Amino acid sequence: MPVYKIYTYPESILKHKAKPVHDINDEIQKLVDGMYETMHFASGVGLAATQVGNENAVFVVDVPAENEQRYMFTVINPVLVESSGESSREEGCLSLPGFRVDVKRAERIVIKGFDRNGKDLVIEAQGLLAVAIQHEMDHLNGITLIDKASLLKREAYIKSLKKGSRE
Ligand SMILES: [Zn+2]
Repeated sequence: MPVYKIYTYPESILKHKAKPVHDINDEIQKLVDGMYETMHFASGVGLAATQVGNENAVFVVDVPAENEQRYMFTVINPVLVESSGESSREEGCLSLPGFRVDVKRAERIVIKGFDRNGKDLVIEAQGLLAVAIQHEMDHLNGITLIDKASLLKREAYIKSLKKGSRE
């Protein structure tokens, strides 16, 4: 299974809106396998296809839960059905190494989509899982954490990137 390159800010693919998957074929299976491999290799809790330079509307998560449960699954063509409440957490992103920002998101969500076998999926999530799902769905809409940050914070990060590349 391949470990893909993870695209990082400011690479333009991260701004692309993902396209709906019409056929869950071998190519999509390979993509999903590679995304799990890449996410685990990078110790992430979620990964969207756009982050590995692919425009299919696919994301994977592997989120540890409080009760020693683990939520590991694939969603293809996710759609937000319901959202309620509000909570704020500090988030990071594999596409923005070293960047952390507090993001306000819905506390509870319901999404629908398809699993990797093409079966209908309805997922109700809250807490960390809800955060991870909203974060990955943002990626599929071309939105990253940098868009959620204040101008000051964004400029400081861009400056740190420039400094990093000079050294
Ligand atoms: Zn991310």
